[in-house]
Amino acid sequence: MTAMRSVSLVFLVCFWACAFAMAGSGDGCLDVYWTDVEGGAATLIVTPAGESVLIDTGMPGERDPGRILDTVKNKAGLEQIDHLVVTHFDIDHYGGTADIAKQIDIGTIYDPGLPEDDDALMDRLAPYLKAAKGRRKVLGPGDSIPLKHAPGSEPLDLRCLTAAKEFVKASAKQTRANPQCSAHKDKDTDTSQNANSIVLLLSFGPFKFLDAADLTWNLEKRLVCPDNLVGAVDVFQVNHHGLDRSNNPVLIRSIRPRVAVMNNGHKKGCQPETFRTLSETRSIKAIYQVHRNINAGPKGNTDPKRIANLDQNCQAEIIKLSVNPSGKTYTVSIPSKKTKETFRTKGQP
Ligand SMILES: [Zn+2]
Repeated sequence: MTAMRSVSLVFLVCFWACAFAMAGSGDGCLDVYWTDVEGGAATLIVTPAGESVLIDTGMPGERDPGRILDTVKNKAGLEQIDHLVVTHFDIDHYGGTADIAKQIDIGTIYDPGLPEDDDALMDRLAPYLKAAKGRRKVLGPGDSIPLKHAPGSEPLDLRCLTAAKEFVKASAKQTRANPQCSAHKDKDTDTSQNANSIVLLLSFGPFKFLDAADLTWNLEKRLVCPDNLVGAVDVFQVNHHGLDRSNNPVLIRSIRPRVAVMNNGHKKGCQPETFRTLSETRSIKAIYQVHRNINAGPKGNTDPKRIANLDQNCQAEIIKLSVNPSGKTYTVSIPSKKTKETFRTKGQP
């Protein structure tokens, strides 16, 4: 065997190890898991130090908390959730918090600030506020979730770019004119909770992942116009489950993702305008969906190989992302299908 071949063999073994290893197992990978919460959100990040950040908790009841805990305990091998971010106060994002908190220890809980002007919503938030009592923090633009650094590991940062309609300030290198901005056309002003979404940018060495929750059209533009506050990313969690009120092409073309992961349900999200934008964005090499959308035909869904759950009555299969310890490559897998694809991080030869 030539030296070259043995190097690539070692490389492949590592990809395999990262894609199918348990989290916190000391493999040095950064992992992200998308649990199927049927068109809600539950994105779990596990760092090389074995620390965990759950972003959103699906709906209340048994189904979504049960699925999320299965991912946390059985797929990721965790015994606690160190940080929980509730991106905004829609029930498909905060709903499962109280039920999950009864079944596993949760460290700090972050949210964008309470909707104190909405009495009815404040009433509905009672179980959340009880679960979050004594460990709740408001996350604002520019704040980072404090994460432990594993010795010898690449720099790691999970930073809030936007929350409650406030944005981080552009750095000097972000103030170059963005040519995409001239294509923007406003949609109706969003007065819903979606507009308050916390937007998180995860960086691990050269690798970048954007989770902008349910941010909507006009605010998406403000993330990249006039200054591109995000930059280019590798993986993009499609906004708002793939609804057309979000996923402004100006945002998606400005951040130029290579992989898009959509947390849609069998009927919710994956709408035509969004799917067309993703399909026509040249940087995107693979679209992954948590679910097949039964309202759209084959042309409105991605390749079935990249859909974790094809049937309405599904087994709630997950999508998993594993970033190599160097941050230079990453693998997206659907463990139930034993499929995996490896991509090179942007800017890597
Ligand atoms: Zn949502």
